[in-house]
Amino acid sequence: MQVSLQGKNILITGGVRGIGRAMTEAAAKAGGHVIATYLSNEATAKDVIGGLQSQGLNVHACKLDVRDSKQVDEAVAALESEYGPIEVLINNAGIVKDGLLMAMEDDDWNDVLNTNLGGAFHVTRAVARQMIRARRGQIINISSVAASRPGRGQVNYAASKGGIEAATKALAVELSSRNIRVNCIAPGVITTEMSQDVREAAGDKILESILLKRFGNPEDIANMAVFLASDLASYITGEVIHIDGGLKL
Ligand code: NDP
Repeated sequence: MQVSLQGKNILITGGVRGIGRAMTEAAAKAGGHVIATYLSNEATAKDVIGGLQSQGLNVHACKLDVRDSKQVDEAVAALESEYGPIEVLINNAGIVKDGLLMAMEDDDWNDVLNTNLGGAFHVTRAVARQMIRARRGQIINISSVAASRPGRGQVNYAASKGGIEAATKALAVELSSRNIRVNCIAPGVITTEMSQDVREAAGDKILESILLKRFGNPEDIANMAVFLASDLASYITGEVIHIDGGLKL
């Protein structure tokens, strides 16, 4: 059995660092053409994309702020006119700004909701226009274990990730008649920059709660993303798949 994304254009937001980077590499190795977006890390984007291209992989980078719906619409239109229709969208870009409720500023709330939830809405709407016309597409959203098992100080992040899980189900209902599947992956604690502080501060305690007694690797998430994007998952839609080594239990 082979997982193939041969010939598919795949847009991965935040696709040059952390989990996104692993998904970019895995999707390209499965034969897809990946457009990986970044926000501010231009140097990293050049290095990562250049490195993958030198392995013969079909990848490109694109600067994009998912919070800006006009910029998103223009970028998606430009990408589609350059590369053709986008068949797979992975809404991965995300941020954390943890803090206890009484210390949480409006900006901490707005930035996290506007990026994690608003960003996914903007990019999904822009990409779905063409998917609906083509009657074909796969959308994969990245949530978090925090949606179902939040830590202290995560009201903004947990709300954004609970929102993306609910939106996944609503979109699956709305788009299934157009042959568009929408699914969600909810990672546990994965070894990226985003989780570095929490792993350093409370790593041993968290590991006690993880049944498999290790943190996840970005590749653990990337493998599922490639599977969900492929035809092997053609009967799966509206699902939230937890990849957390058993942390949720
Ligand atoms: P990283 O911090 O390593 O990467 C985040 C990515 O999002 C970066 O590529 C960043 O771009 C991009 N990004 C941030 N803001 C924007 C924006 N406004 N517009 C476009 N891109 C943006 O995070 P992870 O790889 O760890 O996380 C990826 C996803 O997985 C996130 O949605 C996160 O919430 C989720 N997740 C992560 C977990 C973990 O333990 N690591 C656990 C559960 C869920 P740039 O590089 O240019 O800054």
